[in-house]
Amino acid sequence: MKELEPGDLYQKIFDNAVMAIGVTNMAGNYVMVNKAWCKYMGYSPEEAKSLNVQDLTAPDELDTSADNFSRLISGELDYLQRRRRYKRKDGSIFWAELYVSRIHNDLGEVSGVLGIFIDIDSVVETEKSQSELNAYLEKLSEDLENAHNAMKVKNQELTEAYEHLNRLSRHDALTGLYNRRTLDEVVASEILRSNRTKRGFALAIADIDNFKKFNDSFGHDCGDEVLRTVSRVFLDKIRKMDYVGRWGGEEFLFIFPETHCKGAEIVLDRVREAVAATKVVHNGLEHSVTVTIGFSYHRAQLQAEEMIVEADKALYLGKAAGKNRVVCYQPECLAEYYPEEEIV
Ligand code: GH3
Ligand code: MG
Ligand code: MG
Repeated sequence: MKELEPGDLYQKIFDNAVMAIGVTNMAGNYVMVNKAWCKYMGYSPEEAKSLNVQDLTAPDELDTSADNFSRLISGELDYLQRRRRYKRKDGSIFWAELYVSRIHNDLGEVSGVLGIFIDIDSVVETEKSQSELNAYLEKLSEDLENAHNAMKVKNQELTEAYEHLNRLSRHDALTGLYNRRTLDEVVASEILRSNRTKRGFALAIADIDNFKKFNDSFGHDCGDEVLRTVSRVFLDKIRKMDYVGRWGGEEFLFIFPETHCKGAEIVLDRVREAVAATKVVHNGLEHSVTVTIGFSYHRAQLQAEEMIVEADKALYLGKAAGKNRVVCYQPECLAEYYPEEEIV
């Protein structure tokens, strides 16, 4: 194998370099180019000699390219390294990583420019796809978050709608008190609890006295207002642990868990007095209203229906005795009063 002569060596490096090498004069006209340069640009070495750097520059980079060239020639830039786009002979554009430096003659004067570049189209393409992918992923995650938030809102609406429906199904629309269905459930569970703990409870039915007269003399609306007003008084006078609901028409059912006969009578009498002291205001008129209340106390294995019948009987006795009073079905148990029991 013939050794390379130092004289040849520069030419061989120039010819065999993978990187495109182009030398221009001070005006940017090509003086010599290597094989790689010809391969990238599609011009022969002879054709290159009739070209200027600007002829090979992508249209939107013409100004930057000219500016950089003159800054390099003037010495303002020592060298230049940048990504730029070239235009091939066939008009196609490609990305290149370019290194440019000045060439000095023996006197140290600037006599030309050396440009070396390599095609980085695939690198830029990959970066572009990567950033497109990132943007897509970012958008996807944003969409997902929006969908998640929308679902949370829908879920909340659904929960509220469910709670609203649940409330409607458990409460009376006119008075807002529990309805009969809920009261049935409460009585059933109180009976189970009372049988288990032997700590009884009181059940009362209150009926508005002479209710018909409100409807007949002042209209159905007035009757409704009486029902609402009386309901507010009931709620105001019972303890948090007690229950009151609309049993039907102008009848109401109370349940006082773990409450003695005497205790129930005291609370119910307060309720009765409070109703009697309240004025129902309707169409600018004030009306007085009273209630009669009958109640029963849960004893061993007594069923819900039996308790209700007992309370109803006591109520009937109260009506017969002149209304606006509280009557206990088994008055003998009123004696079992524990004064220390707290009645709020
Ligand atoms: P008493 O003192 O004996 O209880 O007499 P009363 O007038 O209350 O008699 P009664 O129980 O027979 O009358 C109940 C009336 O209540 C009959 C019905 O027209 C009326 N009523 C039932 N439900 C409603 C309602 O939701 N609104 C109104 N305004 N009236 C109702
Ligand atoms: Mg009635
Ligand atoms: Mg009545």
